Amino acid sequence: MANVTRDFFIGLSNNKCLNDQAKKWGFRLGAEKFVAGTNIESVTKVVKDLNRNGISCTIDNLGEYISVKSEATAAKQELIKIIEKIHVEKLDCHISVKLTLLGLDIDRAFCIDNIKEVLDVAKEYNVFVNFDMEDYSHYEQTMEVLHLFKDTYPLIGTVIQSYLYRAADDLEGLEDTRIRLVKGAYKEAESVAYQSKEEIDRNFIQLAKERLLGDAFTSIATHDHHIINELKMFIADKKIDKSKFEFQMLYGFRTEMQYELAEEGYPFCTYIPFGTDWFAYFMRRLAERPQNMNLVLKDVFYTNDDKLKRRPIILGGIALSSALMLLRKRQTRRRKAV
Ligand SMILES: Cc1cc2nc3c(=O)[nH]c(=O)nc-3n(C[C@H](O)[C@H](O)[C@H](O)COP(=O)(O)OP(=O)(O)OC[C@H]3O[C@@H](n4cnc5c(N)ncnc54)[C@H](O)[C@@H]3O)c2cc1C
Repeated sequence: MANVTRDFFIGLSNNKCLNDQAKKWGFRLGAEKFVAGTNIESVTKVVKDLNRNGISCTIDNLGEYISVKSEATAAKQELIKIIEKIHVEKLDCHISVKLTLLGLDIDRAFCIDNIKEVLDVAKEYNVFVNFDMEDYSHYEQTMEVLHLFKDTYPLIGTVIQSYLYRAADDLEGLEDTRIRLVKGAYKEAESVAYQSKEEIDRNFIQLAKERLLGDAFTSIATHDHHIINELKMFIADKKIDKSKFEFQMLYGFRTEMQYELAEEGYPFCTYIPFGTDWFAYFMRRLAERPQNMNLVLKDVFYTNDDKLKRRPIILGGIALSSALMLLRKRQTRRRKAV
């Protein structure tokens, strides 16, 4: 059942039409709990607040299904503005970017030019840039781009997903590179990725320990308290220096735990997405944690002052029929979901 729910939300996250529509709705379905507003000012406010509490941040300018050059160019300009803002406001913050946002799916050379422009500004202001890892169809290209730039721009890194069989091998070539370790958010084929939580978790812990014993910086990005507790013991036992790692979590998730870890003295970084293109990101979060559906139901059926909306049955009907339609479509055309 858990896998069906996960596949369902991942299917929704891949629906370009819904993603396009959602940009016009503004925040809906409770997404504002996980997305820090639509503009640089709103995200800056959140960063400053977290920085005051000893938490550093990474900003993600949301954007999926970028298919025309003008959108990628606009995204690049926005990223440059964010980097300038980080510099001017002296924020304890770096940026996270998906390469498709800068046009990877449009034209590789165009994307490389965009990345280079962003990296030039980031280098000038000493701001770290992380290449987020997308689904497996973008994996090789993301790694290639990292290797292309990492000698010229030392302040870059990427993400390794512990669900991939190749994760350990790929880390071997990245002993000098800052890495964020995650479990992996997309639905990948059995030919490339572990499918069970036990195997993914075991690999995560194994890779995290190897990284902590090495020289380069590692961001341990998980909300999983079992893993965090095991790694806290390992860090204490092996006397790992705090300059070599940080814990990372997503904005809006386990907020209390984020503050607790920072208060306990662990380096901590919150990943903060912002922008109007929130739908796919939010659907992937529902896939990981269907309990967040209560936010969606609240948004669909209730007003802000907790009164039942006038036409909840119609809204519910639309939601239910869309869900059934999508499920039927999935059964007939079991396309890869990410
Ligand atoms: C900072 C950050 C950056 C990321 N970047 C990427 C990326 O670039 N590419 C990518 O593919 N993926 C990325 N991810 C997503 C990641 O791959 C996972 O999909 C996501 O983090 C869910 O896995 P998890 O490790 O949090 O644990 P899960 O396996 O989802 O949860 C494990 C256990 O932790 C507890 N738990 C989890 N969440 C909560 C909660 N909110 N409240 C209470 N208990 C909870 C539950 O007991 C749960 O069973 C990122 C994640 C983070 C945190």
